[in-house]
Amino acid sequence: MADGDHDHDHDHDHEGMLEDVELGYHAKRSLAMQELLDEKGLLSKADLQHHVEIRASRTPTDGARIVARAWTDEGFKQRLLQDPRSAVAELGYTLPPESQLGVLEDTADVHHMVVCTLCSCYPSALLGLPPDWYKSLSYRSRAVTDPRGVMREFGLDLSENVEVRVMDSTADLRYLVLPNRPEGTEDMSEDELVKLVTRDSMIGVSSPLTPAPASR
Ligand code: FE
Repeated sequence: MADGDHDHDHDHDHEGMLEDVELGYHAKRSLAMQELLDEKGLLSKADLQHHVEIRASRTPTDGARIVARAWTDEGFKQRLLQDPRSAVAELGYTLPPESQLGVLEDTADVHHMVVCTLCSCYPSALLGLPPDWYKSLSYRSRAVTDPRGVMREFGLDLSENVEVRVMDSTADLRYLVLPNRPEGTEDMSEDELVKLVTRDSMIGVSSPLTPAPASR
Protein backbone atom coordinates (compact mmCIF):
# COMPACT_ATOMS: atom_id res chain seq x y z
CA MET A 1 0.00 0.00 0.00
CA ALA A 2 1.59 3.25 -1.12
CA ASP A 3 1.49 6.13 1.28
CA GLY A 4 3.09 9.17 -0.25
CA ASP A 5 3.22 11.12 3.02
CA HIS A 6 4.76 8.27 4.95
CA ASP A 7 7.32 6.60 2.75
CA HIS A 8 10.41 6.95 4.91
CA ASP A 9 12.59 3.98 5.69
CA HIS A 10 11.12 1.94 8.53
CA ASP A 11 14.39 0.26 9.41
CA HIS A 12 15.51 3.22 11.49
CA ASP A 13 15.95 2.97 15.23
CA HIS A 14 12.63 3.86 16.81
CA GLU A 15 14.30 4.71 20.10
CA GLY A 16 15.69 7.73 18.31
CA MET A 17 12.21 9.13 18.30
CA LEU A 18 12.27 9.36 22.08
CA GLU A 19 15.16 11.81 22.06
CA ASP A 20 12.98 14.88 21.76
CA VAL A 21 10.27 13.60 24.11
CA GLU A 22 10.39 14.69 27.72
CA LEU A 23 10.23 11.43 29.71
CA GLY A 24 9.05 11.29 33.30
CA TYR A 25 11.07 9.80 36.14
CA HIS A 26 9.47 6.33 35.94
CA ALA A 27 9.77 6.11 32.16
CA LYS A 28 13.47 7.03 32.31
CA ARG A 29 14.05 4.55 35.09
CA SER A 30 12.21 1.81 33.20
CA LEU A 31 14.21 2.45 30.03
CA ALA A 32 17.47 2.43 32.00
CA MET A 33 16.58 -0.92 33.57
CA GLN A 34 15.66 -2.36 30.19
CA GLU A 35 19.04 -1.25 28.82
CA LEU A 36 20.88 -2.81 31.76
CA LEU A 37 19.01 -6.12 31.58
CA ASP A 38 19.73 -6.28 27.87
CA GLU A 39 23.42 -5.32 28.27
CA LYS A 40 23.97 -7.91 30.98
CA GLY A 41 22.30 -10.58 28.91
CA LEU A 42 19.61 -11.19 31.55
CA LEU A 43 16.61 -10.23 29.46
CA SER A 44 16.89 -9.25 25.83
CA LYS A 45 14.67 -6.57 24.39
CA ALA A 46 13.04 -9.23 22.21
CA ASP A 47 12.26 -11.41 25.25
CA LEU A 48 10.87 -8.43 27.12
CA GLN A 49 8.66 -7.56 24.17
CA HIS A 50 7.49 -11.18 24.06
CA HIS A 51 6.45 -11.07 27.74
CA VAL A 52 4.65 -7.76 27.25
CA GLU A 53 2.75 -9.17 24.28
CA ILE A 54 1.70 -12.32 26.16
CA ARG A 55 0.46 -10.18 29.04
CA ALA A 56 -1.45 -7.86 26.71
CA SER A 57 -3.06 -10.83 24.91
CA ARG A 58 -4.54 -12.34 28.07
CA THR A 59 -8.20 -11.76 28.88
CA PRO A 60 -10.52 -13.01 31.64
CA THR A 61 -11.51 -15.85 29.31
CA ASP A 62 -8.12 -17.39 30.03
CA GLY A 63 -8.82 -17.43 33.77
CA ALA A 64 -12.33 -18.69 33.03
CA ARG A 65 -10.90 -21.72 31.22
CA ILE A 66 -8.96 -22.61 34.34
CA VAL A 67 -12.02 -22.24 36.56
CA ALA A 68 -14.24 -24.28 34.22
CA ARG A 69 -11.65 -27.05 34.08
CA ALA A 70 -11.48 -27.11 37.88
CA TRP A 71 -15.29 -27.35 38.04
CA THR A 72 -15.36 -30.34 35.72
CA ASP A 73 -12.17 -32.20 36.67
CA GLU A 74 -11.66 -32.89 40.37
CA GLY A 75 -8.09 -34.09 39.83
CA PHE A 76 -7.22 -30.85 38.06
CA LYS A 77 -8.85 -28.84 40.83
CA GLN A 78 -6.72 -30.54 43.47
CA ARG A 79 -3.56 -29.94 41.46
CA LEU A 80 -4.62 -26.30 40.93
CA LEU A 81 -5.05 -25.75 44.65
CA GLN A 82 -1.80 -27.48 45.58
CA ASP A 83 0.51 -26.36 42.80
CA PRO A 84 -1.12 -23.63 40.73
CA ARG A 85 1.92 -22.99 38.55
CA SER A 86 2.11 -26.58 37.28
CA ALA A 87 -1.64 -26.92 36.96
CA VAL A 88 -2.14 -23.82 34.79
CA ALA A 89 0.81 -24.97 32.68
CA GLU A 90 -1.28 -28.04 31.80
CA LEU A 91 -3.61 -25.62 29.99
CA GLY A 92 -0.72 -23.78 28.37
CA TYR A 93 -0.40 -20.83 30.72
CA THR A 94 2.96 -19.64 32.01
CA LEU A 95 3.15 -17.61 35.19
CA PRO A 96 5.92 -15.07 35.66
CA PRO A 97 8.75 -16.66 37.63
CA GLU A 98 8.96 -13.85 40.21
CA SER A 99 5.39 -14.18 41.42
CA GLN A 100 3.42 -16.99 43.04
CA LEU A 101 -0.23 -17.65 42.39
CA GLY A 102 -2.65 -18.52 45.16
CA VAL A 103 -5.94 -20.15 44.18
CA LEU A 104 -8.73 -19.47 46.68
CA GLU A 105 -11.52 -22.01 46.61
CA ASP A 106 -14.94 -20.73 47.62
CA THR A 107 -17.26 -23.11 49.44
CA ALA A 108 -20.84 -22.93 50.66
CA ASP A 109 -19.49 -21.35 53.86
CA VAL A 110 -16.56 -19.21 52.71
CA HIS A 111 -16.34 -16.50 50.06
CA HIS A 112 -13.03 -14.93 49.01
CA MET A 113 -12.52 -11.43 47.71
CA VAL A 114 -9.19 -10.13 46.42
CA VAL A 115 -7.69 -6.68 46.71
CA CYS A 116 -4.24 -5.12 46.57
CA THR A 117 -4.39 -2.51 49.29
CA LEU A 118 -0.94 -1.16 48.41
CA CYS A 119 -1.27 -0.75 44.65
CA SER A 120 -2.81 -2.98 41.97
CA CYS A 121 -1.23 -6.46 42.10
CA TYR A 122 -3.36 -8.77 39.99
CA PRO A 123 -2.93 -12.13 38.21
CA SER A 124 -2.50 -10.44 34.82
CA ALA A 125 -0.85 -13.54 33.37
CA LEU A 126 -4.27 -15.22 33.62
CA LEU A 127 -6.81 -12.37 33.56
CA GLY A 128 -5.18 -9.61 31.52
CA LEU A 129 -4.92 -6.08 32.84
CA PRO A 130 -6.93 -5.17 35.96
CA PRO A 131 -10.05 -3.02 35.67
CA ASP A 132 -9.67 0.62 36.68
CA TRP A 133 -11.88 0.22 39.74
CA TYR A 134 -9.53 -2.46 41.09
CA LYS A 135 -6.74 0.13 41.17
CA SER A 136 -8.88 2.86 42.74
CA LEU A 137 -8.21 4.08 46.28
CA SER A 138 -11.91 3.66 46.98
CA TYR A 139 -11.92 -0.08 46.19
CA ARG A 140 -8.57 -0.67 47.91
CA SER A 141 -9.87 0.80 51.16
CA ARG A 142 -13.51 -0.27 51.07
CA ALA A 143 -12.65 -3.87 50.16
CA VAL A 144 -11.16 -4.06 53.65
CA THR A 145 -13.59 -1.93 55.64
CA ASP A 146 -16.84 -2.92 53.92
CA PRO A 147 -16.40 -5.93 51.63
CA ARG A 148 -20.07 -6.90 51.79
CA GLY A 149 -21.09 -3.38 50.80
CA VAL A 150 -18.71 -3.50 47.82
CA MET A 151 -20.13 -6.87 46.77
CA ARG A 152 -23.67 -5.54 47.00
CA GLU A 153 -22.69 -2.79 44.54
CA PHE A 154 -21.56 -5.54 42.18
CA GLY A 155 -24.91 -7.29 42.66
CA LEU A 156 -23.90 -9.91 45.19
CA ASP A 157 -25.82 -9.92 48.46
CA LEU A 158 -24.08 -12.59 50.52
CA SER A 159 -25.82 -14.30 53.39
CA GLU A 160 -24.48 -13.38 56.83
CA ASN A 161 -23.88 -17.10 57.29
CA VAL A 162 -21.13 -17.01 54.68
CA GLU A 163 -17.73 -15.99 56.00
CA VAL A 164 -15.97 -13.36 53.86
CA ARG A 165 -12.19 -13.62 53.56
CA VAL A 166 -10.54 -10.57 52.02
CA MET A 167 -7.13 -11.47 50.65
CA ASP A 168 -4.45 -8.80 50.13
CA SER A 169 -2.34 -9.42 47.03
CA THR A 170 1.30 -8.52 46.76
CA ALA A 171 3.80 -8.47 43.93
CA ASP A 172 5.07 -11.85 45.18
CA LEU A 173 1.70 -13.53 45.70
CA ARG A 174 -1.34 -12.85 43.55
CA TYR A 175 -4.70 -14.53 43.90
CA LEU A 176 -7.32 -16.10 41.67
CA VAL A 177 -10.68 -16.92 43.18
CA LEU A 178 -12.17 -20.30 42.28
CA PRO A 179 -15.85 -19.44 42.71
CA ASN A 180 -18.62 -21.89 43.43
CA ARG A 181 -20.05 -23.62 40.39
CA PRO A 182 -23.55 -22.23 39.86
CA GLU A 183 -26.49 -24.51 40.49
CA GLY A 184 -28.27 -25.89 37.47
CA THR A 185 -25.07 -26.34 35.46
CA GLU A 186 -24.66 -30.09 35.96
CA ASP A 187 -25.31 -30.86 32.29
CA MET A 188 -23.20 -28.06 30.86
CA SER A 189 -19.99 -28.70 28.97
CA GLU A 190 -16.68 -27.16 29.97
CA ASP A 191 -16.92 -24.71 27.04
CA GLU A 192 -20.40 -23.64 28.12
CA LEU A 193 -19.21 -23.18 31.70
CA VAL A 194 -16.36 -20.92 30.56
CA LYS A 195 -18.97 -18.36 29.45
CA LEU A 196 -20.40 -18.18 32.96
CA VAL A 197 -17.10 -17.29 34.64
CA THR A 198 -16.77 -13.52 34.75
CA ARG A 199 -13.68 -11.52 35.54
CA ASP A 200 -15.37 -10.08 38.63
CA SER A 201 -16.21 -13.55 39.94
CA MET A 202 -12.50 -14.45 39.80
CA ILE A 203 -11.71 -11.31 41.82
CA GLY A 204 -14.53 -12.29 44.16
CA VAL A 205 -16.68 -9.16 44.04
CA SER A 206 -19.49 -11.06 42.38
CA SER A 207 -20.62 -14.57 41.53
CA PRO A 208 -20.40 -16.37 38.20
CA LEU A 209 -23.37 -15.95 35.89
CA THR A 210 -26.21 -18.41 36.17
CA PRO A 211 -27.36 -20.24 33.06
CA ALA A 212 -30.16 -18.55 31.14
CA PRO A 213 -33.35 -20.63 31.56
CA ALA A 214 -34.18 -20.26 27.85
CA SER A 215 -31.01 -22.05 26.83
CA ARG A 216 -31.67 -25.10 28.93
FE1 FE B 1 -0.16 -4.15 44.12
